[in-house]
Amino acid sequence: MTSTPEAQVQELRRQLQSLLEAAKANERKLDRFDALERRLMAVESMEELVNLLLVDCRHDFQLDAAELWLLDPDGELSRALPALPMARAPRLLDTHGPLRDMFGAVRATRLVGPGHGEAVVAQAFGDDTPMRSAALLPLIRQGLLIGSLHFGSRDPERYDATSGTKFLDRLSAIAAIAIESMLNRERLRRAGMTDGLTGVHNRRYFDHRSLIEFSQAVRHRYPLACLFLDIDHFKAINDGHGHPTGDEVLRQVGGLIQRSLRTGDLAARYGGEEFVVLLPRTDLAGAREVAERIRLMVQDAPFITPDGGTLNATLSAGLAMLQPGAASFAELLNSADQALYEAKRAGRNRTVAAAADISAATAAAS
Ligand code: GH3
Ligand code: MG
Ligand code: MG
Repeated sequence: MTSTPEAQVQELRRQLQSLLEAAKANERKLDRFDALERRLMAVESMEELVNLLLVDCRHDFQLDAAELWLLDPDGELSRALPALPMARAPRLLDTHGPLRDMFGAVRATRLVGPGHGEAVVAQAFGDDTPMRSAALLPLIRQGLLIGSLHFGSRDPERYDATSGTKFLDRLSAIAAIAIESMLNRERLRRAGMTDGLTGVHNRRYFDHRSLIEFSQAVRHRYPLACLFLDIDHFKAINDGHGHPTGDEVLRQVGGLIQRSLRTGDLAARYGGEEFVVLLPRTDLAGAREVAERIRLMVQDAPFITPDGGTLNATLSAGLAMLQPGAASFAELLNSADQALYEAKRAGRNRTVAAAADISAATAAAS
């Protein structure tokens, strides 16, 4: 079949027009990816990063679903994430299995849909969000698969196997960098607040948080209890069993204290073998109960030494309550410290509460 020159010109024009349109669409797509990349590199927090990948991407790219899987073998993320206000949460994986199943050894972006890997689409989004086609992006850092990002569509042809994946490959590389640097930042932030040996908060964090707790208790007029806990004859443990054993006892005591507290309570390593605990909204009887519970747990615990043996340890507790009209937090700390001194003097392995009328007595004396 031959066509007239006019028809041929028209056909060429049509082809040129559709090429121009495709080029324009590509340019718009590139602009959207560029903007996303810039925002990914500038995120300030983990929740912002997750919201960007799951909520904003979904909107900007007109997706029907977006999912993020992150590998979390040590439970580090599961401890950090529940506290964050996020519109959508990532799925945390405790093993590599699901990622290996999804990407195999190739570990490249996958476009899946009817006739090309549709079973994987269901896996990637779960049963409650039925998608027809999807782009599955592996997140790789330093050669390790650390997670995956899934974009889903109800349109079976949105992601067909023949489309290019250049933009998506680039997005997954940048998302992986952003996630890794955010994780490192969170780790550093937490390391700055916790004591490396015992895992409880450090003195710096305590000094900061205690002032907030103090002013809130004063403002809202609720009781605030302070405990000082000091391991008895700790020097003898070090001298008799060696410093590493002393460290192990400290670590275990820190764990016991942490486990005896409620959320909202604050425990910190105050110095050497001394811990401080703040119990907001807790009265004297309640605070004494907490102190005694910790004291008895330590007394009854067989402390495991690094060589596999056991030893016993005790601690003394000083307890003080925030007094009405107290001028400063230092006053509360000081009374708890004095009570601890009394507990040591009276024979150790006991809880002593500061006299309730310390401020009144000081006031009367002055
Ligand atoms: P008391 O019953 O009066 O509290 O006696 P004590 O021996 O516990 O108190 P003392 O203050 O005389 O000794 C505390 C010891 O704690 C001395 C110090 O070497 C040791 N210490 C401080 N920090 C650490 C640490 O991080 N690891 C270990 N293993 N020992 C520590
Ligand atoms: Mg001691
Ligand atoms: Mg001490």
